Parts: sequence; structure tokens; C-alpha cells
Amino acid sequence: MSNENGFCKHCGADFDGGNILDVFIKRGKTVSELEEIAEMYGYGPGRTQWGRQIGIYCMERDRTVNTQCPDCKEIQ
Ligand SMILES: [Zn+2]
Repeated sequence: MSNENGFCKHCGADFDGGNILDVFIKRGKTVSELEEIAEMYGYGPGRTQWGRQIGIYCMERDRTVNTQCPDCKEIQ
């Protein structure tokens, strides 16, 4: 099984959160809508899975500075 988002350094949790397009297929999106969504999310080779990590955002730096494991809550 492939993994795009890596694993938790602390508890080994798999950070892949499922296929991005599957979610929209289940919501009944049309093929042309799916193409738009794919483009929006940069969907393609090496980028097909949702990431489960929690982003830690820094207001001062205006960017995500770290990520946190959703299972054990450790900083990665
Ligand atoms: Zn963890």
C-alpha cells in the first residue's frame, strides 16, 4: 500500500486520509466537476490522498510552521 503523507514519528499512524476524489464522487459530482476539483487540489501522480496531519499556523509568520499527529497529538 502506498503512502503519500508519511507516518507519525511517534506513534506510527498513517497520515493518508483517503482518496481526494472519492469524497466528491460519493457526493455525486459530475465528471467535469471532478476535473475541476482535481485541478484545484493539484490531484495527480503522487498527490491523491488527503493528509490527516493537523497544521499548526503561526499568525506572525503567516504560514503553517509545524504539523501535529491527529492520533497521539505529538508535533512532527
Ligand atoms: Zn502520532
